[in-house]
Amino acid sequence: MSWSKTLSDGLLRNQLGRLDQLQGYPELPARQQVMVKTLRQLADNSRTFLVDLITWFVDNAQTCPGPAELQERAREMRTAHQEQKPLGNPECEQCRGLGYYIVVRRVTLPRLEAYWATGAKRCGCAPPEEKKEN
Ligand SMILES: [Zn+2]
Repeated sequence: MSWSKTLSDGLLRNQLGRLDQLQGYPELPARQQVMVKTLRQLADNSRTFLVDLITWFVDNAQTCPGPAELQERAREMRTAHQEQKPLGNPECEQCRGLGYYIVVRRVTLPRLEAYWATGAKRCGCAPPEEKKEN
């Protein structure tokens, strides 16, 4: 088993240190250790997530968050991330990550005038559509 991806204490402490301008920043090593531990759990080995989390408090907070505030914010970030997650592959040229693309087709039905119909077609890069009841 490799632990190489685990975020280093140095990185975690570094990021925690960005909060030291905020009121209530923990000066005691024991309290900092609690924060580092919390950050490690919340970041879940994602350096980007860790940096984004700390940046949010640097930009928005007046007082230094405690573990509970960090957890709360991390949960909100994950929720927002899931909502924005594109359906398809962002690299896909067909749909540009939307997971579907617009198709136009000519519909010809007996006894009706032919017409053009547009619709969204599920792109091959997206997971299969869940079956809808109808
Ligand atoms: Zn696609």
